[in-house]
Amino acid sequence: MSPSVPIPTVWNENIGESGKILVFPSGPVDDWQVQFSRGDAVVEWRIRLEARSGWGEVETIEVAHFKRRVVGLTAEEIGLSLDEAKQVLAELQRLVLQTQMEEYTFCARVCPACRKMRRQRDCRTRTIQTLFGTVTVDAPRISICPCSNKLGFVDLSFSSLSELLPDRCTPELRRIQADLGARHSFREAGRLLSQLLPCSPANHATIRNRTHRVATAIEALSDADPENPSPSSKETVVMIDGAHIRAVPGHQSRHLDVTVGKVEVAGRKPRRFAFAPKGADRPIDILRAALGAQGWRPGQKVTVISDGEAVLPNLVRAATREPVRHILDWFHLSMRMRPIEQMLLGLSGRDIQLRPLHAAQASIERVRHLLWHGRPAQADQELVRFAHHSDDIARSNTDPERVVTRDLLRHCSELRSYVQNNRRAIVSYHRRYHSDRPISTSRAQGCVDEIANARMGRRQRMRWSPRGAHRVAVVRAAVLDDRLGAISRNQIAA
Ligand SMILES: [Zn+2]
Repeated sequence: MSPSVPIPTVWNENIGESGKILVFPSGPVDDWQVQFSRGDAVVEWRIRLEARSGWGEVETIEVAHFKRRVVGLTAEEIGLSLDEAKQVLAELQRLVLQTQMEEYTFCARVCPACRKMRRQRDCRTRTIQTLFGTVTVDAPRISICPCSNKLGFVDLSFSSLSELLPDRCTPELRRIQADLGARHSFREAGRLLSQLLPCSPANHATIRNRTHRVATAIEALSDADPENPSPSSKETVVMIDGAHIRAVPGHQSRHLDVTVGKVEVAGRKPRRFAFAPKGADRPIDILRAALGAQGWRPGQKVTVISDGEAVLPNLVRAATREPVRHILDWFHLSMRMRPIEQMLLGLSGRDIQLRPLHAAQASIERVRHLLWHGRPAQADQELVRFAHHSDDIARSNTDPERVVTRDLLRHCSELRSYVQNNRRAIVSYHRRYHSDRPISTSRAQGCVDEIANARMGRRQRMRWSPRGAHRVAVVRAAVLDDRLGAISRNQIAA
């Protein structure tokens, strides 16, 4: 070989059959000569799994193998594709699960009493659904050991795998299906999962059933005993609100109520709750569990903030089995004054007698001030004066303004009866606000949006049975609070 021709160095001995990169090194990298021996050079990867068993056996199995060309690479070929990743995960899961189950069922054959191997009665298989695919594993039935079979002549057997996974599905898969089922329609949840993971496509009925089972498990956890009681000086605030969702045809009414809310104690993360009163076996248990989880104990004072409906504070009373303090939600109260204020503002832009208008504006401002300071009786008297000012506006002006004042008077009388009906629940919002205590359900209103409107609202065009609505609401509240992970396999399987 002439000294002028450098000896080629193969860049990497492992480079596959279809092509090699030949390098003729001479001096710095910039002076090297690179050639591709034949065809396109490719890079290849092999993923191997090393399994080490309980008794020290080591086995290496190939999980996946893929390659990419080096020259002419397109953007689509960069890194692992979703399909490849799904294949790798599915294969990895199959290999892990089959070895794991083999060892598990083998060890399950050992009789706990006499330490002898029990007889394997047959060699049936079972499928296990997981997030990373459905895997078929050996699930032999094992005969009961003669040492504990008192009946002697009867051949009893059991399957250790069925005891471990009674419904052939990993708890994690069920939890994630329920999580997605509480966020999206069941059909969409199934589609999302199988789009991103190698799990077998689940139909909407499967996802619905699993969401329902998770809801039942959450309700079973309804343990009212607080783990970490809060000091009795702290106020437990329940903000509670309701939403209407569309009911399935054949139901008594076209709409169903879903009750949602939050339990707040200063210094703790708020805890959400949700239920459909018509679909729940024991709705007050759900409330009681939420109170207990926030450290509430019987005897501690509870404040309920809600709008004027008596049903909601009564639910909380039933849950605590004690009197509770009800505060009318400032948000709802303020919203009742808003249309009056806006109408007056609209009138001020017209060519009218200003004196009665200004008197009416000052009057409604006083009503707002009195209500903010918790004086419903004075606010009521002021509303009577407001009605006189509205009459004055009508008298001193022409027809179009009279129409507006008629609406003003209607809103005024509605506000009066709202204030009268809820007078006991109107407190000094001013004092509460300045001592950093909640005055409104605006945060519970957020719950209505998150729980009822987002998943069950009219835009979803879904109709709900009371039971179905209840269960999805329960799971959705738990998902939003990040409580789903706390539900263990046994609790769901039970
Ligand atoms: Zn035995």
